[in-house]
Amino acid sequence: MYAYSYDMSFVKNRLPGYVAMPKTVEEVQQIMKMANRTKTPVIPYTAGSNIGGLCIPEKDGSIVMDMKRMNKIIRIDEESRFAVVEPGVSHAELAEELYKRGLRFGWPVGPPSASVLSCAICHGIGGITGRYGLNSEQITSMEVVLPTGELTRVGSCAIQKDAWHSLLPLPLVGGLFTGWLGTTGVVTKLGIFTPAVPPHVEIVTTATDDLQDMYKYMLEFSRYEAADDLTAVSWWLSQVPIPYPYKEKPKDAPEWNSYAVLYAYTEKELEAKVEMFERTVKNQQKNGSSLQVTQYPEEAKRARTELPSQIVGSTKNYSKQAGGGISWPGTFTPANKWVPVWEKWREIYKKRNLSPSVRVTMYRGTHYGMLRAMTPINKQYPDQVENSRMAIVEALKVLLDEGGIPYKPPVDFAKEIYSRADPGYVDLIKKVKDFLDPNEIMNPGKLWIR
Ligand SMILES: Cc1cc2nc3c(=O)[nH]c(=O)nc-3n(C[C@H](O)[C@H](O)[C@H](O)COP(=O)(O)OP(=O)(O)OC[C@H]3O[C@@H](n4cnc5c(N)ncnc54)[C@H](O)[C@@H]3O)c2cc1C
Repeated sequence: MYAYSYDMSFVKNRLPGYVAMPKTVEEVQQIMKMANRTKTPVIPYTAGSNIGGLCIPEKDGSIVMDMKRMNKIIRIDEESRFAVVEPGVSHAELAEELYKRGLRFGWPVGPPSASVLSCAICHGIGGITGRYGLNSEQITSMEVVLPTGELTRVGSCAIQKDAWHSLLPLPLVGGLFTGWLGTTGVVTKLGIFTPAVPPHVEIVTTATDDLQDMYKYMLEFSRYEAADDLTAVSWWLSQVPIPYPYKEKPKDAPEWNSYAVLYAYTEKELEAKVEMFERTVKNQQKNGSSLQVTQYPEEAKRARTELPSQIVGSTKNYSKQAGGGISWPGTFTPANKWVPVWEKWREIYKKRNLSPSVRVTMYRGTHYGMLRAMTPINKQYPDQVENSRMAIVEALKVLLDEGGIPYKPPVDFAKEIYSRADPGYVDLIKKVKDFLDPNEIMNPGKLWIR
Protein backbone atom coordinates (compact mmCIF):
# COMPACT_ATOMS: atom_id res chain seq x y z
CA MET A 1 0.00 0.00 0.00
CA TYR A 2 2.93 2.33 0.64
CA ALA A 3 3.82 2.12 -3.05
CA TYR A 4 0.40 3.56 -3.89
CA SER A 5 0.53 6.35 -1.30
CA TYR A 6 2.72 8.82 -3.20
CA ASP A 7 3.81 9.94 -6.65
CA MET A 8 6.57 12.17 -8.06
CA SER A 9 4.62 15.39 -7.49
CA PHE A 10 4.30 17.79 -4.54
CA VAL A 11 0.98 16.22 -3.48
CA LYS A 12 1.04 14.89 0.11
CA ASN A 13 1.21 11.11 0.63
CA ARG A 14 -1.81 9.22 1.86
CA LEU A 15 -2.05 5.46 2.31
CA PRO A 16 -4.96 3.78 0.58
CA GLY A 17 -7.09 1.50 2.72
CA TYR A 18 -6.95 -1.24 0.07
CA VAL A 19 -5.35 -2.04 -3.25
CA ALA A 20 -7.36 -4.13 -5.72
CA MET A 21 -5.88 -5.60 -8.88
CA PRO A 22 -8.76 -6.97 -10.96
CA LYS A 23 -8.09 -9.28 -13.89
CA THR A 24 -11.48 -9.18 -15.56
CA VAL A 25 -14.31 -6.78 -16.31
CA GLU A 26 -16.57 -8.84 -14.03
CA GLU A 27 -14.15 -8.32 -11.13
CA VAL A 28 -14.15 -4.57 -11.79
CA GLN A 29 -17.95 -4.63 -11.67
CA GLN A 30 -17.99 -6.60 -8.42
CA ILE A 31 -15.57 -4.16 -6.79
CA MET A 32 -17.65 -1.17 -7.91
CA LYS A 33 -20.88 -2.73 -6.63
CA MET A 34 -19.33 -3.49 -3.26
CA ALA A 35 -17.74 -0.01 -3.07
CA ASN A 36 -21.13 1.54 -3.80
CA ARG A 37 -22.81 -0.46 -1.10
CA THR A 38 -20.20 0.52 1.46
CA LYS A 39 -19.63 4.04 0.03
CA THR A 40 -15.91 3.36 -0.27
CA PRO A 41 -13.91 5.67 -2.59
CA VAL A 42 -12.31 3.99 -5.63
CA ILE A 43 -9.34 5.42 -7.51
CA PRO A 44 -8.53 3.94 -10.93
CA TYR A 45 -4.75 3.55 -11.37
CA THR A 46 -2.54 2.34 -14.20
CA ALA A 47 1.06 3.52 -13.68
CA GLY A 48 0.56 6.53 -11.39
CA SER A 49 2.86 8.67 -13.56
CA ASN A 50 0.47 11.58 -14.05
CA ILE A 51 2.70 13.89 -11.91
CA GLY A 52 -0.32 15.64 -10.41
CA GLY A 53 -1.28 13.41 -7.48
CA LEU A 54 -4.35 12.21 -9.39
CA CYS A 55 -4.09 8.65 -8.04
CA ILE A 56 -3.34 9.64 -4.43
CA PRO A 57 -6.45 9.18 -2.27
CA GLU A 58 -8.08 12.31 -0.88
CA LYS A 59 -9.89 10.22 1.77
CA ASP A 60 -8.85 7.53 4.24
CA GLY A 61 -9.92 3.97 3.59
CA SER A 62 -9.98 4.31 -0.23
CA ILE A 63 -9.52 1.47 -2.71
CA VAL A 64 -6.82 2.06 -5.30
CA MET A 65 -7.87 -0.08 -8.27
CA ASP A 66 -4.69 -0.92 -10.15
CA MET A 67 -5.64 -1.99 -13.68
CA LYS A 68 -2.20 -3.37 -14.60
CA ARG A 69 -3.34 -6.98 -14.76
CA MET A 70 -5.85 -6.16 -17.48
CA ASN A 71 -3.11 -5.86 -20.05
CA LYS A 72 -4.31 -7.45 -23.28
CA ILE A 73 -4.01 -5.94 -26.71
CA ILE A 74 -7.35 -7.30 -27.82
CA ARG A 75 -7.12 -6.44 -31.46
CA ILE A 76 -5.03 -4.65 -34.04
CA ASP A 77 -6.98 -4.11 -37.23
CA GLU A 78 -4.22 -3.43 -39.77
CA GLU A 79 -6.59 -2.75 -42.61
CA SER A 80 -8.89 -0.31 -40.83
CA ARG A 81 -5.99 0.98 -38.73
CA PHE A 82 -7.33 0.82 -35.20
CA ALA A 83 -6.44 -1.09 -32.06
CA VAL A 84 -8.42 -2.17 -29.00
CA VAL A 85 -6.57 -2.25 -25.69
CA GLU A 86 -7.15 -2.89 -22.02
CA PRO A 87 -6.06 -0.31 -19.41
CA GLY A 88 -2.84 -2.10 -18.42
CA VAL A 89 -1.29 -2.02 -21.91
CA SER A 90 1.75 0.28 -21.81
CA HIS A 91 3.00 2.59 -24.56
CA ALA A 92 6.08 0.35 -24.93
CA GLU A 93 4.00 -2.82 -25.35
CA LEU A 94 1.58 -1.38 -27.88
CA ALA A 95 4.37 0.38 -29.80
CA GLU A 96 6.21 -2.90 -30.25
CA GLU A 97 3.16 -4.53 -31.79
CA LEU A 98 2.13 -1.54 -33.90
CA TYR A 99 5.59 -0.92 -35.35
CA LYS A 100 5.73 -4.55 -36.55
CA ARG A 101 2.65 -3.70 -38.62
CA GLY A 102 3.80 -0.26 -39.83
CA LEU A 103 1.37 1.56 -37.52
CA ARG A 104 1.81 4.10 -34.73
CA PHE A 105 0.08 6.17 -32.04
CA GLY A 106 0.72 9.47 -30.24
CA TRP A 107 3.49 8.37 -27.92
CA PRO A 108 4.15 10.99 -25.23
CA VAL A 109 7.63 11.91 -24.05
CA GLY A 110 6.64 10.41 -20.71
CA PRO A 111 7.49 7.02 -19.22
CA PRO A 112 7.06 4.18 -21.80
CA SER A 113 5.60 2.09 -18.95
CA ALA A 114 2.54 4.36 -18.61
CA SER A 115 -0.85 3.28 -19.96
CA VAL A 116 -2.01 4.02 -23.51
CA LEU A 117 -5.63 4.07 -22.34
CA SER A 118 -5.05 6.50 -19.44
CA CYS A 119 -3.07 8.85 -21.65
CA ALA A 120 -5.87 8.90 -24.22
CA ILE A 121 -8.76 9.40 -21.79
CA CYS A 122 -6.83 12.17 -19.97
CA HIS A 123 -6.37 14.18 -23.23
CA GLY A 124 -2.71 13.19 -23.47
CA ILE A 125 -0.30 14.65 -26.00
CA GLY A 126 2.05 12.64 -28.18
CA GLY A 127 4.46 12.85 -31.08
CA ILE A 128 1.75 13.12 -33.76
CA THR A 129 -0.38 15.79 -32.12
CA GLY A 130 0.59 18.40 -34.73
CA ARG A 131 -0.89 16.23 -37.49
CA TYR A 132 -3.75 14.35 -35.80
CA GLY A 133 -4.61 16.25 -32.62
CA LEU A 134 -4.76 15.00 -29.03
CA ASN A 135 -4.72 11.32 -28.13
CA SER A 136 -8.33 11.62 -26.94
CA GLU A 137 -9.27 12.65 -30.49
CA GLN A 138 -8.07 9.23 -31.67
CA ILE A 139 -10.57 7.32 -29.49
CA THR A 140 -12.88 5.18 -31.61
CA SER A 141 -14.93 3.27 -29.00
CA MET A 142 -15.04 2.50 -25.28
CA GLU A 143 -16.20 -0.04 -22.75
CA VAL A 144 -16.81 1.42 -19.27
CA VAL A 145 -17.85 0.13 -15.87
CA LEU A 146 -20.00 2.85 -14.34
CA PRO A 147 -19.48 3.89 -10.71
CA THR A 148 -22.59 1.89 -9.80
CA GLY A 149 -21.14 -1.27 -11.38
CA GLU A 150 -23.15 -1.49 -14.63
CA LEU A 151 -21.27 -2.15 -17.84
CA THR A 152 -21.76 0.20 -20.77
CA ARG A 153 -20.35 0.72 -24.26
CA VAL A 154 -19.84 3.89 -26.22
CA GLY A 155 -19.37 4.29 -29.98
CA SER A 156 -19.77 1.69 -32.73
CA CYS A 157 -19.10 -1.21 -30.32
CA ALA A 158 -22.33 -0.23 -28.54
CA ILE A 159 -24.32 -1.11 -31.66
CA GLN A 160 -22.37 -4.12 -32.88
CA LYS A 161 -20.10 -5.71 -30.30
CA ASP A 162 -17.15 -6.30 -32.65
CA ALA A 163 -17.28 -2.89 -34.35
CA TRP A 164 -14.68 -0.66 -32.65
CA HIS A 165 -14.02 1.77 -35.50
CA SER A 166 -15.82 5.00 -34.57
CA LEU A 167 -17.45 7.16 -31.90
CA LEU A 168 -19.41 9.03 -34.57
CA PRO A 169 -22.14 9.48 -35.82
CA LEU A 170 -23.68 8.58 -32.46
CA PRO A 171 -24.04 11.21 -29.71
CA LEU A 172 -20.54 11.87 -28.34
CA VAL A 173 -21.15 10.17 -25.00
CA GLY A 174 -17.45 9.30 -24.80
CA GLY A 175 -17.05 12.84 -23.43
CA LEU A 176 -18.52 11.57 -20.17
CA PHE A 177 -15.30 9.61 -19.61
CA THR A 178 -12.56 11.75 -21.19
CA GLY A 179 -10.90 14.55 -19.20
CA TRP A 180 -12.70 13.50 -15.98
CA LEU A 181 -9.59 12.08 -14.27
CA GLY A 182 -11.20 8.79 -13.33
CA THR A 183 -14.16 10.42 -11.56
CA THR A 184 -16.99 9.09 -13.75
CA GLY A 185 -16.23 5.42 -14.40
CA VAL A 186 -13.58 2.78 -15.04
CA VAL A 187 -12.70 2.44 -18.71
CA THR A 188 -12.01 -1.25 -19.32
CA LYS A 189 -11.46 -1.28 -23.10
CA LEU A 190 -10.52 1.44 -25.55
CA GLY A 191 -10.50 1.55 -29.34
CA ILE A 192 -7.95 3.96 -30.84
CA PHE A 193 -7.04 5.07 -34.34
CA THR A 194 -3.51 3.92 -35.20
CA PRO A 195 -2.27 5.70 -38.34
CA ALA A 196 0.47 4.39 -40.62
CA VAL A 197 4.15 5.25 -40.18
CA PRO A 198 5.21 7.14 -43.30
CA PRO A 199 8.55 5.83 -44.61
CA HIS A 200 10.35 9.18 -44.97
CA VAL A 201 11.27 11.49 -42.11
CA GLU A 202 13.34 14.60 -41.58
CA ILE A 203 13.81 16.64 -38.44
CA VAL A 204 14.42 20.34 -38.92
CA THR A 205 15.68 22.43 -36.04
CA THR A 206 16.01 26.12 -35.26
CA ALA A 207 17.02 28.49 -32.46
CA THR A 208 16.02 32.03 -31.52
CA ASP A 209 17.04 34.67 -28.99
CA ASP A 210 13.56 34.91 -27.53
CA LEU A 211 10.13 33.29 -27.51
CA GLN A 212 8.53 36.07 -29.57
CA ASP A 213 10.67 35.14 -32.59
CA MET A 214 10.14 31.43 -31.97
CA TYR A 215 6.38 31.88 -31.71
CA LYS A 216 6.25 33.84 -34.98
CA TYR A 217 8.22 31.11 -36.77
CA MET A 218 6.03 28.34 -35.34
CA LEU A 219 2.86 30.23 -36.20
CA GLU A 220 3.92 30.68 -39.82
CA PHE A 221 5.23 27.14 -40.24
CA SER A 222 2.20 25.56 -38.56
CA ARG A 223 -0.06 27.03 -41.27
CA TYR A 224 1.40 24.50 -43.73
CA GLU A 225 0.34 21.66 -41.41
CA ALA A 226 3.55 19.93 -42.46
CA ALA A 227 4.88 18.79 -39.08
CA ASP A 228 3.67 15.86 -37.00
CA ASP A 229 5.31 17.55 -34.02
CA LEU A 230 6.25 21.23 -33.86
CA THR A 231 7.83 21.97 -30.50
CA ALA A 232 10.18 24.48 -28.90
CA VAL A 233 11.92 24.31 -25.54
CA SER A 234 13.60 26.94 -23.40
CA TRP A 235 17.35 26.64 -22.84
CA TRP A 236 16.74 25.24 -19.33
CA LEU A 237 14.61 22.37 -20.60
CA SER A 238 17.11 21.51 -23.31
CA GLN A 239 19.70 20.84 -20.57
CA VAL A 240 19.61 17.22 -19.44
CA PRO A 241 18.88 16.95 -16.58
CA ILE A 242 17.11 20.25 -15.87
CA PRO A 243 19.44 22.43 -13.74
CA TYR A 244 18.28 22.47 -10.11
CA PRO A 245 18.40 25.01 -8.52
CA TYR A 246 18.33 27.82 -11.12
CA LYS A 247 21.38 28.24 -13.32
CA GLU A 248 22.09 31.31 -15.44
CA LYS A 249 21.97 30.72 -19.20
CA PRO A 250 25.31 31.42 -20.93
CA LYS A 251 25.02 34.78 -22.70
CA ASP A 252 25.79 33.41 -26.17
CA ALA A 253 23.32 30.47 -25.97
CA PRO A 254 19.98 30.98 -27.73
CA GLU A 255 17.08 31.08 -25.26
CA TRP A 256 14.81 28.86 -27.43
CA ASN A 257 15.43 25.76 -29.54
CA SER A 258 12.86 24.04 -31.70
CA TYR A 259 12.37 20.84 -33.64
CA ALA A 260 9.80 19.93 -36.26
CA VAL A 261 9.29 16.29 -37.19
CA LEU A 262 8.37 16.01 -40.88
CA TYR A 263 7.01 12.66 -42.04
CA ALA A 264 6.17 11.93 -45.68
CA TYR A 265 5.01 9.04 -47.82
CA THR A 266 7.26 9.89 -50.77
CA GLU A 267 10.59 11.64 -51.23
CA LYS A 268 8.84 14.39 -53.16
CA GLU A 269 6.40 15.00 -50.34
CA LEU A 270 9.31 15.27 -47.93
CA GLU A 271 11.15 17.69 -50.23
CA ALA A 272 8.02 19.82 -50.41
CA LYS A 273 7.78 19.91 -46.62
CA VAL A 274 11.44 20.89 -46.28
CA GLU A 275 10.83 23.61 -48.86
CA MET A 276 7.93 24.94 -46.74
CA PHE A 277 10.31 25.05 -43.78
CA GLU A 278 13.02 26.86 -45.76
CA ARG A 279 10.52 29.40 -47.05
CA THR A 280 9.29 30.07 -43.55
CA VAL A 281 12.83 30.57 -42.26
CA LYS A 282 13.66 32.95 -45.14
CA ASN A 283 10.51 34.94 -44.56
CA GLN A 284 11.11 35.21 -40.84
CA GLN A 285 14.73 36.27 -41.32
CA LYS A 286 13.67 38.85 -43.93
CA ASN A 287 11.38 40.33 -41.26
CA GLY A 288 14.27 40.72 -38.82
CA SER A 289 13.85 37.56 -36.74
CA SER A 290 16.79 36.13 -34.77
CA LEU A 291 15.78 32.68 -36.15
CA GLN A 292 18.69 30.43 -37.12
CA VAL A 293 18.68 26.93 -38.56
CA THR A 294 20.64 24.64 -36.21
CA GLN A 295 22.23 21.22 -36.40
CA TYR A 296 20.69 18.65 -34.09
CA PRO A 297 22.82 15.75 -32.77
CA GLU A 298 21.84 12.38 -34.34
CA GLU A 299 20.99 10.85 -30.96
CA ALA A 300 18.60 13.71 -30.18
CA LYS A 301 16.99 13.26 -33.60
CA ARG A 302 16.42 9.58 -32.92
CA ALA A 303 14.80 10.47 -29.60
CA ARG A 304 12.20 12.42 -31.56
CA THR A 305 11.21 9.57 -33.84
CA GLU A 306 11.97 6.43 -31.85
CA LEU A 307 9.10 6.99 -29.46
CA PRO A 308 8.14 5.90 -26.83
CA SER A 309 11.63 6.65 -25.68
CA GLN A 310 13.83 5.71 -22.76
CA ILE A 311 15.84 8.83 -23.56
CA VAL A 312 13.23 11.56 -23.44
CA GLY A 313 10.67 9.59 -21.42
CA SER A 314 13.01 8.91 -18.56
CA THR A 315 12.06 10.90 -15.51
CA LYS A 316 15.67 11.10 -14.34
CA ASN A 317 16.49 13.20 -17.37
CA TYR A 318 14.14 15.82 -16.07
CA SER A 319 14.61 15.69 -12.34
CA LYS A 320 17.89 13.94 -11.53
CA GLN A 321 19.50 16.98 -9.91
CA ALA A 322 16.48 17.44 -7.64
CA GLY A 323 16.42 13.79 -6.56
CA GLY A 324 13.46 12.51 -8.55
CA GLY A 325 10.47 14.70 -7.78
CA ILE A 326 8.67 16.42 -10.64
CA SER A 327 5.45 18.21 -11.47
CA TRP A 328 4.25 20.93 -13.84
CA PRO A 329 1.80 23.54 -14.79
CA GLY A 330 0.87 21.67 -18.00
CA THR A 331 -1.62 23.63 -20.05
CA PHE A 332 -3.52 24.13 -23.29
CA THR A 333 -2.95 27.79 -24.15
CA PRO A 334 -3.66 30.01 -27.17
CA ALA A 335 -0.31 30.38 -28.93
CA ASN A 336 -0.56 34.17 -28.98
CA LYS A 337 -0.50 34.10 -25.16
CA TRP A 338 2.70 32.07 -24.92
CA VAL A 339 4.96 35.13 -24.81
CA PRO A 340 3.14 37.13 -22.09
CA VAL A 341 2.77 34.00 -19.95
CA TRP A 342 6.41 32.93 -20.48
CA GLU A 343 7.71 36.35 -19.45
CA LYS A 344 5.85 36.12 -16.14
CA TRP A 345 6.71 32.44 -15.62
CA ARG A 346 10.42 33.15 -16.14
CA GLU A 347 10.30 35.76 -13.37
CA ILE A 348 8.29 33.51 -11.01
CA TYR A 349 10.71 30.60 -11.47
CA LYS A 350 13.84 32.74 -11.22
CA LYS A 351 12.57 34.42 -8.05
CA ARG A 352 12.10 30.96 -6.54
CA ASN A 353 15.57 29.85 -7.68
CA LEU A 354 14.10 27.31 -10.14
CA SER A 355 14.84 26.78 -13.84
CA PRO A 356 12.10 28.00 -16.19
CA SER A 357 12.10 24.70 -18.13
CA VAL A 358 9.31 25.42 -20.52
CA ARG A 359 8.01 23.62 -23.61
CA VAL A 360 5.59 24.93 -26.22
CA THR A 361 4.00 22.70 -28.86
CA MET A 362 1.60 23.58 -31.67
CA TYR A 363 -1.49 21.42 -31.82
CA ARG A 364 -3.36 20.59 -34.95
CA GLY A 365 -5.78 22.99 -36.57
CA THR A 366 -6.31 26.15 -34.60
CA HIS A 367 -3.47 28.13 -33.11
CA TYR A 368 -3.25 26.84 -29.61
CA GLY A 369 -0.99 24.40 -27.97
CA MET A 370 0.87 23.07 -25.03
CA LEU A 371 2.63 25.44 -22.67
CA ARG A 372 4.18 23.66 -19.74
CA ALA A 373 6.98 24.09 -17.21
CA MET A 374 8.62 20.88 -16.03
CA THR A 375 9.45 21.62 -12.40
CA PRO A 376 11.91 19.43 -10.50
CA ILE A 377 11.03 18.95 -6.82
CA ASN A 378 13.46 17.87 -4.11
CA LYS A 379 11.20 15.68 -2.07
CA GLN A 380 13.77 15.22 0.73
CA TYR A 381 13.13 18.74 2.00
CA PRO A 382 9.59 19.98 2.78
CA ASP A 383 10.57 23.64 2.27
CA GLN A 384 11.87 22.85 -1.23
CA VAL A 385 8.71 20.91 -2.06
CA GLU A 386 6.64 23.89 -0.95
CA ASN A 387 8.83 26.27 -2.98
CA SER A 388 8.25 24.24 -6.18
CA ARG A 389 4.54 23.91 -5.43
CA MET A 390 4.21 27.66 -4.97
CA ALA A 391 6.03 28.31 -8.28
CA ILE A 392 3.58 25.98 -10.02
CA VAL A 393 0.51 27.53 -8.37
CA GLU A 394 1.68 31.11 -9.07
CA ALA A 395 2.39 30.15 -12.68
CA LEU A 396 -1.03 28.64 -12.94
CA LYS A 397 -2.81 31.81 -11.80
CA VAL A 398 -0.99 33.87 -14.44
CA LEU A 399 -1.91 31.28 -17.03
CA LEU A 400 -5.61 31.19 -16.17
CA ASP A 401 -5.73 35.01 -16.37
CA GLU A 402 -4.54 34.71 -19.99
CA GLY A 403 -7.11 32.07 -20.95
CA GLY A 404 -4.94 28.93 -20.72
CA ILE A 405 -6.41 25.73 -19.25
CA PRO A 406 -4.35 23.26 -17.21
CA TYR A 407 -4.52 19.56 -18.13
CA LYS A 408 -4.40 16.60 -15.72
CA PRO A 409 -4.73 19.20 -12.95
CA PRO A 410 -3.81 18.39 -9.35
CA VAL A 411 -6.44 19.40 -6.78
CA ASP A 412 -4.61 22.69 -6.10
CA PHE A 413 -5.21 23.60 -9.75
CA ALA A 414 -8.78 22.31 -9.84
CA LYS A 415 -9.60 24.79 -7.05
CA GLU A 416 -8.31 27.66 -9.19
CA ILE A 417 -10.10 26.41 -12.30
CA TYR A 418 -13.51 25.85 -10.76
CA SER A 419 -13.46 28.97 -8.60
CA ARG A 420 -13.15 30.99 -11.84
CA ALA A 421 -15.56 28.93 -13.94
CA ASP A 422 -18.94 30.02 -15.24
CA PRO A 423 -21.54 28.97 -12.59
CA GLY A 424 -23.70 27.33 -15.26
CA TYR A 425 -20.75 25.16 -16.29
CA VAL A 426 -19.98 24.13 -12.71
CA ASP A 427 -23.64 23.32 -12.19
CA LEU A 428 -23.68 21.11 -15.30
CA ILE A 429 -20.54 19.27 -14.20
CA LYS A 430 -22.11 18.65 -10.77
CA LYS A 431 -25.30 17.31 -12.35
CA VAL A 432 -23.41 14.93 -14.65
CA LYS A 433 -21.26 13.76 -11.77
CA ASP A 434 -24.26 13.21 -9.45
CA PHE A 435 -26.08 11.33 -12.19
CA LEU A 436 -23.21 8.94 -12.89
CA ASP A 437 -21.79 8.65 -9.41
CA PRO A 438 -24.63 9.15 -6.91
CA ASN A 439 -22.57 8.02 -3.91
CA GLU A 440 -19.53 10.14 -4.92
CA ILE A 441 -17.12 7.24 -4.73
CA MET A 442 -15.11 7.72 -7.94
CA ASN A 443 -11.77 9.41 -7.23
CA PRO A 444 -13.56 11.87 -4.91
CA GLY A 445 -12.20 15.38 -4.42
CA LYS A 446 -10.20 15.50 -7.63
CA LEU A 447 -12.58 17.77 -9.53
CA TRP A 448 -13.04 20.12 -6.57
CA ILE A 449 -16.56 21.02 -7.66
CA ARG A 450 -17.87 21.22 -4.10
C1 LIG B 1 8.80 12.92 -17.41
C2 LIG B 1 7.37 12.88 -17.79
C3 LIG B 1 6.98 13.37 -19.04
C4 LIG B 1 5.64 13.35 -19.42
N1 LIG B 1 5.27 13.78 -20.68
C5 LIG B 1 3.99 13.64 -21.09
C6 LIG B 1 3.60 13.98 -22.42
O1 LIG B 1 4.41 14.36 -23.25
N2 LIG B 1 2.30 13.84 -22.76
C7 LIG B 1 1.38 13.38 -21.89
O2 LIG B 1 0.22 13.25 -22.26
N3 LIG B 1 1.72 13.05 -20.63
C8 LIG B 1 2.99 13.15 -20.21
N4 LIG B 1 3.35 12.81 -18.93
C9 LIG B 1 2.34 12.44 -17.94
C10 LIG B 1 2.04 10.97 -17.80
O3 LIG B 1 2.98 10.12 -18.30
C11 LIG B 1 0.72 10.77 -18.42
O4 LIG B 1 -0.20 11.55 -17.71
C12 LIG B 1 0.25 9.34 -18.50
O5 LIG B 1 -0.79 9.32 -19.44
C13 LIG B 1 -0.29 8.79 -17.22
O6 LIG B 1 -0.47 7.43 -17.43
P1 LIG B 1 -0.48 6.48 -16.20
O7 LIG B 1 -0.63 5.11 -16.73
O8 LIG B 1 0.66 6.74 -15.31
O9 LIG B 1 -1.86 6.98 -15.54
P2 LIG B 1 -2.19 7.18 -14.00
O10 LIG B 1 -1.33 8.24 -13.45
O11 LIG B 1 -2.20 5.86 -13.32
O12 LIG B 1 -3.70 7.73 -14.13
C14 LIG B 1 -3.98 8.97 -14.72
C15 LIG B 1 -5.45 9.35 -14.46
O13 LIG B 1 -6.31 8.47 -15.17
C16 LIG B 1 -7.22 7.83 -14.28
N5 LIG B 1 -7.38 6.46 -14.77
C17 LIG B 1 -6.42 5.51 -14.89
N6 LIG B 1 -6.93 4.39 -15.42
C18 LIG B 1 -8.24 4.63 -15.64
C19 LIG B 1 -9.30 3.84 -16.17
N7 LIG B 1 -9.09 2.60 -16.59
N8 LIG B 1 -10.53 4.39 -16.23
C20 LIG B 1 -10.77 5.66 -15.82
N9 LIG B 1 -9.78 6.44 -15.31
C21 LIG B 1 -8.55 5.94 -15.23
C22 LIG B 1 -6.58 7.91 -12.90
O14 LIG B 1 -7.54 7.87 -11.86
C23 LIG B 1 -5.89 9.26 -12.99
O15 LIG B 1 -6.81 10.30 -12.72
C24 LIG B 1 4.68 12.84 -18.53
C25 LIG B 1 5.07 12.33 -17.28
C26 LIG B 1 6.40 12.35 -16.90
C27 LIG B 1 6.79 11.78 -15.58
